[in-house]
Amino acid sequence: MSSGKLVLFSGPSGVGKDTLLEVLAKKRPSLQRSISLTTRQRRAGETDGVDYFFVSPEHFQELLSNGDVLEFAQYGTNLYGTPKKPVDKWLREGKTVILKIEVQGAEKIMRMYPQALSVFIMPPSMEVLEQRLRERGTEDEEDLRRRMQIAREEIRKSREYDYIIVNDSLERAADEFLTILDETAKQ
Ligand code: 5GP
Repeated sequence: MSSGKLVLFSGPSGVGKDTLLEVLAKKRPSLQRSISLTTRQRRAGETDGVDYFFVSPEHFQELLSNGDVLEFAQYGTNLYGTPKKPVDKWLREGKTVILKIEVQGAEKIMRMYPQALSVFIMPPSMEVLEQRLRERGTEDEEDLRRRMQIAREEIRKSREYDYIIVNDSLERAADEFLTILDETAKQ
């Protein structure tokens, strides 16, 4: 039986989920963030085992067949998945575990764990989102267009989430997230 809390943290690419998670880790060090598997190429500045476990498509398939993946989804041309064992262990230890996942994966987890708390991080506008993605400069034009298209689909599904937080200011958004976490813990 699990006694911890699972938190789904979604939002379009470029909305600032990673920066927000860094702020949250400082404000609330007890939060446990799950590190996902991905078949995508490592970006400059990313570290294997910290940002993601970067794996080959073959290794990903092997982990899937062994039942080691809690959920997975295709995003663009790559696969992303949550390693199962660490999440099970953290939940058994009573921790609050954050899964930074896109909407298809989040929908699966909502069905598997109806008690999970789901939060969607919304950009202040589509213009700001595109500008942030361009400034990040990590994607080529085709990937950027694909990410903006996926963003529009994801935003349409944001109503399936328990809470929507607009990332207009990092500090404010982080504090809103922590308030939600604390309020739902009391229920
Ligand atoms: P990026 O390539 O920008 O790091 O991630 C692309 C998308 O994949 C983001 O929306 C991110 O939240 C999502 N993602 C990252 N890890 C996982 C995972 O383990 N499962 C699922 N379903 N999505 C993930």
